[in-house]
Amino acid sequence: MIDRLKTNWPKISGIISDLDGVTYRGDEPIESAVRAFQRWNNIGLPYAFVTNNSTKSAEEFSDKLNAMGIPADPARIITTSAVAADRLSDLLETRSRVMVIGEPALVRAVADRNFEVVDEDVGAVIAGLDRSFTYAKLARAQTALLGGAHFIGTNPDTMLPTAGGFEPGAGAILNAIEIASGVTPIIIGKPEPDLVTTALSKLGTDRQSTFMLGDQIMTDIAAGHAAGIPTIRVRTGIIETGPLSISPDFDIESLEGIPANAFSTAKEP
Ligand SMILES: [Mg+2]
Repeated sequence: MIDRLKTNWPKISGIISDLDGVTYRGDEPIESAVRAFQRWNNIGLPYAFVTNNSTKSAEEFSDKLNAMGIPADPARIITTSAVAADRLSDLLETRSRVMVIGEPALVRAVADRNFEVVDEDVGAVIAGLDRSFTYAKLARAQTALLGGAHFIGTNPDTMLPTAGGFEPGAGAILNAIEIASGVTPIIIGKPEPDLVTTALSKLGTDRQSTFMLGDQIMTDIAAGHAAGIPTIRVRTGIIETGPLSISPDFDIESLEGIPANAFSTAKEP
């Protein structure tokens, strides 16, 4: 069993962590992670969370983590819905018309940024996981994109693990729209760097000593690499097998595998 790829831990001044597979699996807290985050919170280590899950708001994730015993401020939870909606502000004037294919959390994120959420004559289509996706929605998105609308996708995950197997992810919906329209979406979620760079600027910690932490190499570790920060893979969630094109800087069985003396914080433990 490989516990670490490197054994000499550098100083860690901040952590940017994935949620599912690191802090919990579905609705079950990962106890070693609960203990680790409580300890990190006690020593004043700055940490933030980044998630490709576009179906909940930062407040909802905060409530879920706090109920599990992981101290989590909504301001430090960076969701792909929020960052994707922010990207709209770079592309469109305030009050522009936007079509949303997604769950209520994505609709709220777009509406909160003062866009008009409608289905016709839109300047952009923003799409994520939508469990009531239909042929009619696909047709409306196709019409908008053929008419020149921008296309933003929350995250490219095609398969979401469930207790019994998998369900289709946002990427499956994005692919359908892309094939129908010939327009490739701007992807916001991991493995793109946007969530990580947003978290880094919120933390204000040093880029060389802020670590991206996640269970999935091709998603979390890839996003950390794309953002140019060091990475830790923790084997408490999805463990990819087979040859992978990238590797993490550190590889641990649980978050308690990081030695306490690796952390440089204002408050010493
Ligand atoms: Mg994960």
